Amino acid sequence: MNTIIRASAPAKVNLVFEVGQLATDGYHPVNSLFLALDLREELTLVKGEQGTGISIYVHGDSLPESHIDSVPTDQSNLVHKTAVLFAQKLGRPTPDLQIDIRKRIPVAGGMAGGSADAAAMLIAMNEFMHLEHGTPILAIEELAVIGAELGSDVPFCIYGGLAIGTGRGEVITPLTDLAFETNWLLCASSKGLSTPTVFAAFDEMGSHTPFSDLNEISATTSPAELGQKMANDLEQAAFRLMPSLRDLVDQLEQLGAVRAMVSGSGPTIAALFDSEAKAIEVSKVLKSQGLVALTAKGQAPGARLDG
Ligand code: ATP
Repeated sequence: MNTIIRASAPAKVNLVFEVGQLATDGYHPVNSLFLALDLREELTLVKGEQGTGISIYVHGDSLPESHIDSVPTDQSNLVHKTAVLFAQKLGRPTPDLQIDIRKRIPVAGGMAGGSADAAAMLIAMNEFMHLEHGTPILAIEELAVIGAELGSDVPFCIYGGLAIGTGRGEVITPLTDLAFETNWLLCASSKGLSTPTVFAAFDEMGSHTPFSDLNEISATTSPAELGQKMANDLEQAAFRLMPSLRDLVDQLEQLGAVRAMVSGSGPTIAALFDSEAKAIEVSKVLKSQGLVALTAKGQAPGARLDG
């Protein structure tokens, strides 16, 4: 029988995203509090005919066509890079694969869409190579080390839950789960914001602050308390590049969000609500304005195989 493997991985929001000064290696050190959401990328991997290489098909149901169309299906897709790197790490040739990606996470929205695909692919490849070639199943820590070579957010998408990310965001310290469920409304933009451009604007603005201790936030007891602690150093830079984002944040808070904030490097706005009903009600208002509004819950497990 042909080998078919299904895997999924979560979107992330940065509850706190602190950014340090540009280091000599060209990267910014970060101090980030990640939360995984139940908005998951789903990946299906099928063994291809010998010699056919890797083919990728991307589709989605709740995202605008412009998002799906902007995802490459060639060697530059992170899932393709993941397959090549994983096989290389095991000292084996890249397998022939047909890969189907069901996208739910806004593309170039600061929610780790591509990283979630890479994380799901690592879990899927781990299983595939084991079934096909009897290679040992790698532990989550080993997958995270490989994931860090693919992108700074990949290790968190593997772990999921609630975690602190340091270094470039790839050094993960898992935290105890929040004591309550969080309800989110995610408002995606039809235009993306490139992460390097947002960091460059942040550098120009020169507003670095010292890193704080993020451990205590996992002891937060309510959405209201959590909302007060949310912070994103990149928000002002994202506002400068896309001024309409500031109006959207204001509108969401006027409509009842406990807190609305640019997610990571944006332009997706993540709004925290104290109930699912309120998040859904406001999503209807935004949709009636022609905006893309998705609801999601936190927290969610990391990358995993799906039955
Ligand atoms: P992050 O939050 O990790 O900074 P993001 O969510 O803002 O990332 P992605 O959705 O990962 O951004 O997409 C960034 C770019 O990466 C896209 O514009 C696209 O061209 C490219 N890309 C490569 N592979 C993928 C993939 N599997 N899914 C989405 N984008 C991909």
